[in-house]
Amino acid sequence: MKKYVIAIDGPAASGKSTTAKLLAEKLRYIYIDTGAMYRACALFAEENRVSLEDIPSLAELLERIEIRIEYSDAGNRIFLNGKDVTARIREADITKLSSEIAVIGIVRKKMVELQRKIGREGGVIMDGRDIGTVVFPDADFKFFMIASVGIRARRRWLEARDKGERLSLEEIEDELIWRDRNDSTREIAPLRKASDAVEIDTSSMTIAEQVDFIMNYIGKRKMRSSYRLLIFLLKITMRLFYRYRLIHGERIPQQLDLILAANHISAYDPPMIGAIMPEEIYILAKIELFRNPLFARFISYLNAIPVKRGRVDRKALERVMNLLRHDKPVLIFIEGTRKSSQAKAGVGKIALETGKDILPIYVKNSNRFWDCLLGKKRLCIVIGERIKTSSLPLQASNKENYRLIAEYVLNKIYELDNECQDS
Ligand code: C5P
Repeated sequence: MKKYVIAIDGPAASGKSTTAKLLAEKLRYIYIDTGAMYRACALFAEENRVSLEDIPSLAELLERIEIRIEYSDAGNRIFLNGKDVTARIREADITKLSSEIAVIGIVRKKMVELQRKIGREGGVIMDGRDIGTVVFPDADFKFFMIASVGIRARRRWLEARDKGERLSLEEIEDELIWRDRNDSTREIAPLRKASDAVEIDTSSMTIAEQVDFIMNYIGKRKMRSSYRLLIFLLKITMRLFYRYRLIHGERIPQQLDLILAANHISAYDPPMIGAIMPEEIYILAKIELFRNPLFARFISYLNAIPVKRGRVDRKALERVMNLLRHDKPVLIFIEGTRKSSQAKAGVGKIALETGKDILPIYVKNSNRFWDCLLGKKRLCIVIGERIKTSSLPLQASNKENYRLIAEYVLNKIYELDNECQDS
């Protein structure tokens, strides 16, 4: 199995390190606490009485610094030039100094270099402030953990109390606020959520819930390698032959737990939409396509669900709703078939009964292969704004509302035509 790089960023005491440690155990990955590395740097500067303003001396220190992390189930141990400093670097003076030293460019450069070296083979969970933005911008998974400052202070206070330290809640809260500000306003690699990171607010989550959330997320995202390969080839085809353009790709959410609703003009629409999504999606395919056993196996492998047309196929409907309830994305062609131009009420029923939001998707020119190839047209896929099912003024579950929702969604899809250039 591919060994992933998992980045977890966020402010102090947001739950990163405890979650990362447990995840690393479950996945049998290495856990790297990058904060500990900055703390070790701070301690080294302090021990050598080097002021943080004295950049030449700091540079000389960085030449001599050796940070070693020993991995063990009981928790990692940090060695600074051979000396175990695991406990010392957690003390208040070093905590403050670590945030101050982390502002300095040469320090960050050295730490990032070390972190990339440790993580390059994959199979690593790294937590910090800039892992998803700077250290591993191409990490396979990025999470950004947050929690209210009051909750974070309380967590730290409980930890301190268990260690026998006497610190007041206010002192801890002030220190957190100061560090948050220092970390997020610095010029180099400030604390910030990467645009493609998944935000997790841990304020009212237990540690077990945090770990489960990430495990589920990763499990869901695991694309089978042959599926990944097919998508890769498809994307090349779309680029070369269809001169494909994706508009508002940023609207595709990191957590794809919703209904993908699209118009339908070509048999290639399902794979083409599938190819731009960050995880495997499920599609509906007319039951006739399953007649040929070989083809049936192929499309079933691609997550196709057989559906009878002409009347309501309750079995297929149930399957779709079940998948959605388990947070799997299902692609629904809202007009049912390629020949229809009327919204089918099904999408309204599915949305209301599962409570899932809808992502409108508009596809243009997927049926114009030759025109695209000859440069007269280009394939265009536009992603619309997420439609929040819970905020639609049609919450009662009845046929009329199903139809109205379906029509509303279809309109939203066709409005996206404005954003498409034909050639
Ligand atoms: O995570 P921890 O609280 O141990 O980090 C100590 C300090 O190190 C942070 O306040 C931050 O200033 C710095 N740090 C950083 N970049 C990282 C990890 C930590 O700047 N990737």
